[in-house]
Amino acid sequence: MERRLFGTNGIRGVVNQDLTSEFVVKMGLAIGTFFNGGQLLIGCDGRTSSQLFKEAMISGLVSTGCSVHDVGCAPTPAIQFLTKHFELDGSVTITASHNPPEYNGIKVNSSDGIEIPREDEVKIEQNYFNETFRQVPWNLLGKVYERKHVLNIYLDAIKRHVDVGAIKKEHYRVVVDPGNGVGTITTPYLLRELGCEVITINSNLDGRFPSRLPEPALENLKDLASTVKAVKADMGVAHDGDADRSIFCDETGTLHWGDKSGAIIQRYILKTHPGATIVTPVSSSKLVEDIAERYGGKIVWTKVGSIIVSRKMLEVGSIFSYEENGGIFYAPHLPVRDGGISAALMLEIMAKTGKTLSQLVNELPKYYAVKAKIKCSNDLKPKVLDRLLEETSKYERLTLDGVKLFIDNGSILIRPSGTEPIFRVFSEAKTEAKAKSLSEFGMKLVRDLIKKSQ
Ligand code: MG
Repeated sequence: MERRLFGTNGIRGVVNQDLTSEFVVKMGLAIGTFFNGGQLLIGCDGRTSSQLFKEAMISGLVSTGCSVHDVGCAPTPAIQFLTKHFELDGSVTITASHNPPEYNGIKVNSSDGIEIPREDEVKIEQNYFNETFRQVPWNLLGKVYERKHVLNIYLDAIKRHVDVGAIKKEHYRVVVDPGNGVGTITTPYLLRELGCEVITINSNLDGRFPSRLPEPALENLKDLASTVKAVKADMGVAHDGDADRSIFCDETGTLHWGDKSGAIIQRYILKTHPGATIVTPVSSSKLVEDIAERYGGKIVWTKVGSIIVSRKMLEVGSIFSYEENGGIFYAPHLPVRDGGISAALMLEIMAKTGKTLSQLVNELPKYYAVKAKIKCSNDLKPKVLDRLLEETSKYERLTLDGVKLFIDNGSILIRPSGTEPIFRVFSEAKTEAKAKSLSEFGMKLVRDLIKKSQ
């Protein structure tokens, strides 16, 4: 079997179990060899192990003759933007995004700021396993430059893509919950510069994530919802650990999953760019199709994974994309998911339409969703998936990634996670009861197949 190190979004592992400093140095050699003495940006999230791994990565990279521009702690989308802005050959981010505190990881970006395509991941993996490293003599080692105070360049770029005057006029009150992640050093400042009164919670950078888990799942965002209500805010926004995802809370204290916020932005963009192509992974709600039909837009479905979405956007010239998990991709800024620009766009939509966030949500077609997961070892996943493909052939379905079944105006997506030993079962329907029954149907199907495959 082909040995893989990269998952859906880079390399991930538990610190000092799967991911040791020795491993990271060796990955630095493999990545540096791939970039062949180039100029690379590097940055990290605020995890307890991130500084350590950033230094280990720099050691490997510099040994191969690559020079490194170190921006320190920064959101993943800021690192991606700055890579392109400074016209560097690529970049490396030390982050485990939304994973629990004991994890860390490595993401690698090309010169365009987008994560490297799958075929380049394979080249780096080959360098790693074959140990074919470009280790240069002492006088050709790379240099390390500290790049301080660069986050304002990223924030200024976001501001250029929204109507700052229109947002400023509204003096919105916004609660920001970066969940002790790196969004704490960008989003509150961005929104203040947009004239908002910003109230923060969980907004000290802390790699132990003492307040909530870095995953902005709705059950982790109760404090955000209650704070929005308590301070009578117009909006709340929460990020994952590396601030490339945004989950919104409306002014009534109701949290909305990424499908809804994505659909609001999709509708706004289709009104100004009729006929635009929207790229979206199979994990998205049928809402994306409803909005495209109503406002005139073309949908291109992809496998799940922000890298695949970003690369597909470039290929088909798509202006916008979103993922159900709160990832918003806005190509005029950069076709990568970006928690900062999502918050700014949402405020612009509220300002331009004069509507509250709950009004914007209520205008959308209604779907009820149930998200479930079931444990399944990574070894067993391919066998279970094969059987699933056999068992579901009678349904209308998409088989791009896992299986998405369309049943009774609803859908069930069953797919193995790329980062965890689980199968995810996402169901949606026009009524809550139907969504629950589809979820139970999907869970039973997978549970039985896992049993049969053992
Ligand atoms: Mg993330």
